[in-house]
Amino acid sequence: MRRIYLDHNATTPVDSEVLGAMLPYFVEDFGNASSIHSFGQKTRSAVEHARESVAALIGARPAEIVFTSGGTESDNTAIFGIVAASRSASKHVITTSIEHPAVLNACESLEKQGVQVTYVSAARDGRVDPGNIRRALRPDTLLITVMHANNELGTIQPLEEVGSIASEAEVYFHTDAVQSAGKISIEVNRFRVDLLSLSGHKLYAPKGVGALYIRSGTHIKPLLFGGHHQRDYRPGTENVAGIVGLGKAAELARASLTAEGSRIASLRDRLETGILAKVPEARVNGSLTARTPNTTNILIPYVEGEALIIALDLRGVACSTGAACSSGAVAPSHVLTAIGLAPEDARASLRFSLGRYTTAEHVDYALSVIPGVVEHLRDLSPVYKRPAIAQ
Ligand code: PLP
Repeated sequence: MRRIYLDHNATTPVDSEVLGAMLPYFVEDFGNASSIHSFGQKTRSAVEHARESVAALIGARPAEIVFTSGGTESDNTAIFGIVAASRSASKHVITTSIEHPAVLNACESLEKQGVQVTYVSAARDGRVDPGNIRRALRPDTLLITVMHANNELGTIQPLEEVGSIASEAEVYFHTDAVQSAGKISIEVNRFRVDLLSLSGHKLYAPKGVGALYIRSGTHIKPLLFGGHHQRDYRPGTENVAGIVGLGKAAELARASLTAEGSRIASLRDRLETGILAKVPEARVNGSLTARTPNTTNILIPYVEGEALIIALDLRGVACSTGAACSSGAVAPSHVLTAIGLAPEDARASLRFSLGRYTTAEHVDYALSVIPGVVEHLRDLSPVYKRPAIAQ
């Protein structure tokens, strides 16, 4: 059976060039990057080269890049680190209701420690109104954290506007760019962000490596304490092979950003248009314009998303819902309900996220399978009435 992967926002395969760049650092060039001898010098220079490549992807300076274990650690370091570095008696953080759990759960944990958090809502198109961020500002606001692209919808937030609000108010600004890095252009100075998170496994590097951009001069406390690696921002012997992989992935993404963006967007549009044409009542969730080129989130009324995913998987098509499965119960996506979808519509929505190896043939195969699978599930639904066929 064919297997078509349309779930690149969950994770991506490691690019073969990335793997090739990493391999020597497992066996031949295995030195500790902190060692003074030549084994250490070799890996130190590989780590520093990767730092330059990651910095170049986002328009930063290499000294402002700290390697981490991934997006979750980068988000947590930014959020807890800024709050911990502040001596104010009263602390306030602004975020949005559609963030990834790596941000939302960090904020919830802060609330338990007495920090106040404002969760700004997003509109039906998945976009946050910068005016609402401005209105949420208080004299004790320390940090604004707003994601760049949403993982479920692909919707891109107006970071430049949020950045100028933050800089005018002299409040730190963090963005979770895990879903945008390597897909669309990022310029830390244009966005005026002080902190930016990215993750290797969303851009064809391995899982378990990521980076946090920290603008120089930012007052931040580390999450971890240990040896003095990475100037104490993130102690722990560097994951050299992973870091080299992230550096190579950043170089590859940067070299093909525009061309690859338009190639993927046209495949995504072909998939989306095909589904809308072949599946009655299907509609797209979130903005049609301000979104990453690879993502579409489609509401397919009268089906259970989970059932649809399983049925599609049996026909060789892998996609996902945004729903998190906890304690056996499938909760509707917090992102889709936050932008105003009814729980049953949120449960009936699917995310398709395309990637570097997706071809027109993959899209056409998915389109040959999806309508029939939906029709079959709808036939089993007690609430679905098949449109009458004109005689
Ligand atoms: N932030 C966003 C927007 C994500 O999509 C993800 C992963 O899905 C993360 C953070 C967490 O990244 P990681 O899996 O590297 O911890």
